Amino acid sequence: MSALEKVATDPLHDVRAYAAGFEHWLAAPPDSLRAATAPLPNYADRVSAMAAMMRDLHDAGWSRYGWPEESGGLGGTILHRGAFWETLSRHHVPGMALFEHLEILAPALVAMGPPDFVSQALPALLSGQELWAQGFSEPDAGSDLASLRTVAVAGDGGFKINGRKIWTSWARYATWCLVLARTGTPESRHRGLTAFIVDLRSPGVEVRAIEQANGTDELAEVTFDDVHVSDARIVGHLDGGWKVAMHILSHERGTFAWFRHCFLYQQLTDGLEHGGADSDAQLGDALLDLAAVTTTSHAGLHAHAADDPLGPKAAFTKLLLCEAERSVNSWRYDLDADLAIGVQDDETAMRRQEYLFSRIVTVYGGSQQMQLETIAKQTLRLP
Ligand SMILES: Cc1cc2nc3c(=O)[nH]c(=O)nc-3n(C[C@H](O)[C@H](O)[C@H](O)COP(=O)(O)OP(=O)(O)OC[C@H]3O[C@@H](n4cnc5c(N)ncnc54)[C@H](O)[C@@H]3O)c2cc1C
Repeated sequence: MSALEKVATDPLHDVRAYAAGFEHWLAAPPDSLRAATAPLPNYADRVSAMAAMMRDLHDAGWSRYGWPEESGGLGGTILHRGAFWETLSRHHVPGMALFEHLEILAPALVAMGPPDFVSQALPALLSGQELWAQGFSEPDAGSDLASLRTVAVAGDGGFKINGRKIWTSWARYATWCLVLARTGTPESRHRGLTAFIVDLRSPGVEVRAIEQANGTDELAEVTFDDVHVSDARIVGHLDGGWKVAMHILSHERGTFAWFRHCFLYQQLTDGLEHGGADSDAQLGDALLDLAAVTTTSHAGLHAHAADDPLGPKAAFTKLLLCEAERSVNSWRYDLDADLAIGVQDDETAMRRQEYLFSRIVTVYGGSQQMQLETIAKQTLRLP
């Protein structure tokens, strides 16, 4: 069916009509949305509040636009998802907390995952019932991901996984983890990796939360001790995990910037209510940095909607997002003395978490240096 025919079948396939319809519906928001806008510095509380809101938005249909019907969606493109989260940010939802994987992992699951599994798993994620984590990094394999040592050995109608992952965001709250494991020889590097969907409730899985300096327990260490995974739970192909990882990273570095920057705009707008004239230069920097992310990530959303791979351009977008994270948060920090002096009311605690997070964004999805290296080699073709 052509795009025009789809719009005729369901007028909400037109993104503007969808955005207007969602805005209209939010004139009488569900209680769960109000609850999710409250400052909740405790991460577990935020997970519950966001999951309840996502359940209501799934049941009302709004979060299902932008996803294919065969995966439990209502059709449309990533532009619908862009409008969805932009609208929520304007309605003071402070971030995607725990639902970031809708825009990091889920596109790869839909494109390359086992269709029967994905048609159950995507609705479960969209409705906040089952969350996800991404198990790539290891204690000795971060920037050099192709050297990872977690192994998956075939047998018993599936694989046995052994190894250790670290910095696994949201693992403590997740049901599923996309684990990149070695199925080839150690020398096979990126050619011998496979992406598995692992049930974190399986025997042999241990998740240990890592408490962060900003007071959250977002990160975790996950160990796998003879964990059985069925061979029906491979994303992509056996030994084809690198392609899956690159698909995921192109979203994490590229299109994800659109979703994240909507919340930065909202932080800036909220901060303006308390702003002083002496911060004009810093405010200008923050606005310019945000404008740069708006244009590049908007282009990325359109490229994705047109099935154009993002490629190394995603690295450039991630660098711009990091600049915007830092400049918006530096501006807010200078406006608000409470952030520095340890005031602990919920709102200040949340803002302090955001500020501290803005200092580590240069690491997730590949470090700043690795993004620069990608641009140097793949875009500028430097030796
Ligand atoms: C908030 C946050 C969330 C994260 N979430 C996840 C997650 O959900 N799942 C997951 O798998 N991982 C996650 N990570 C881990 C992240 O992907 C890694 O930390 C990152 O890839 C860097 O790897 P590393 O920590 O091993 O550092 P290393 O690779 O040891 O790097 C250390 C330093 O050396 C530099 N360096 C390394 N190699 C080179 C080189 N060749 N040239 C120049 N400089 C180099 C790096 O830039 C860095 O500054 C997360 C990290 C953060 C901060």
